[in-house]
Amino acid sequence: MRILVINCGSSSIKYKLYGVELGDCLAEGIIEGIGAPGARHRHRVGDWETAVEASVTDYRSGVSCIVEALSEWGPVPPVGDSREIVGVGHRVVHGGERFSASVIIDPGVLETIQSLDSLAPLHNPANRAGIEAAGDLLAGAPGVAVFDTAFFSTLPERAFRYAVPAKWWRRHGVRRYGFHGISHRFLVERASRVLGRPRPNLVTFHLGAGASACAVRDGRAVDTSMGMTPLEGLVMGTRSGDIDPAVVFHLMEEGLSAPEIRRGLEREGGLLGLSGISSDFRSLSQATRAGEPAAALAVEVFCHRIRRYLGAFLALAAPCDGVVFSGGIGENSPDVRRRVLEGLDSLGLALDPSRNEGEGERRISTDQSPIAAWVIPTDEEALIARDTVRLVVGGQV
Ligand code: ADP
Repeated sequence: MRILVINCGSSSIKYKLYGVELGDCLAEGIIEGIGAPGARHRHRVGDWETAVEASVTDYRSGVSCIVEALSEWGPVPPVGDSREIVGVGHRVVHGGERFSASVIIDPGVLETIQSLDSLAPLHNPANRAGIEAAGDLLAGAPGVAVFDTAFFSTLPERAFRYAVPAKWWRRHGVRRYGFHGISHRFLVERASRVLGRPRPNLVTFHLGAGASACAVRDGRAVDTSMGMTPLEGLVMGTRSGDIDPAVVFHLMEEGLSAPEIRRGLEREGGLLGLSGISSDFRSLSQATRAGEPAAALAVEVFCHRIRRYLGAFLALAAPCDGVVFSGGIGENSPDVRRRVLEGLDSLGLALDPSRNEGEGERRISTDQSPIAAWVIPTDEEALIARDTVRLVVGGQV
């Protein structure tokens, strides 16, 4: 029996195939550039990898390519074989107030996800397209929706309400939801194991192209940096994160249109906006080493914002057991972790510089540090697979 995990992004589909019994990832891949000429499909089985140009015009043809690749290059046997795909787990970005846990997808669930399109216009329609395509192409395998917002259903009202007129909340649904919940939940579950605490108090950071922080008490989310949309909070690749809302009125009065401002905040802000060079952290690190002052400033603002949230969330998670770094930047940049954690001994956080330079999952604070700091590589697909098995087969990956 196999479990397929599908993650439809705004222009890509990532997938991983798991064996129910083994827990290992058997095959994985990505299709990038959906709808654009020259879409690329990379497929990997063990150490063997192939990359081909694929004519993928939409999510349906993308999922069809994936199913073909899995049967052509393995390891999915024909329908009827006992090792066929028995469940498909889908990442769904927005579950609104309706979904506080993963669910088996039926027409009612799909309709509710559709009703939330306006809250995640780039993501939920793509997620639905993937669900519908897999439902048609793998008709015997039930789909499971795993929501990025669900982990934040435990936020207390004092954390999810904005201090705006109450009717905006009641009539227009203006509140904070939080995102990256699949990753933060994975980190909390993993941290609980490595720290040996069943319900830890934590501050978790997912630092990738998108970036967010989460404050956790007794294993549950009590606050997060992202808000009604994934624009709030930390500085991201192209997203500004927090700004004074009055900046928007000021720019409108200066003659900028609403779409121009939106583009600036969502696609032309963040590391890209600050540096004018790139949204990619590795490129900015290189540019910084080459002496580009704007790249250096972008990295400084990025780290300063993380440190600010760390201070705030340590207070919410007190007494805090651990701080966790994850995501492409959080896992791979010792420099970012050093800038965020150095000089915090008086708060109970003592970084071990040599552990910080290592690789993979590990403790990076000293053994004496009252609050442990860890790097934990995130694995959202593994968590989606786990929920899918639980709901479809009733077992554990
Ligand atoms: P996504 O949110 O798209 O999944 P990732 O979690 O893969 O993104 O993170 C992408 C970011 O991680 C990019 O800014 C990339 O430059 C950065 N990154 C990847 N590897 C490294 C590295 N070795 N050092 C610093 N940054 C890195």
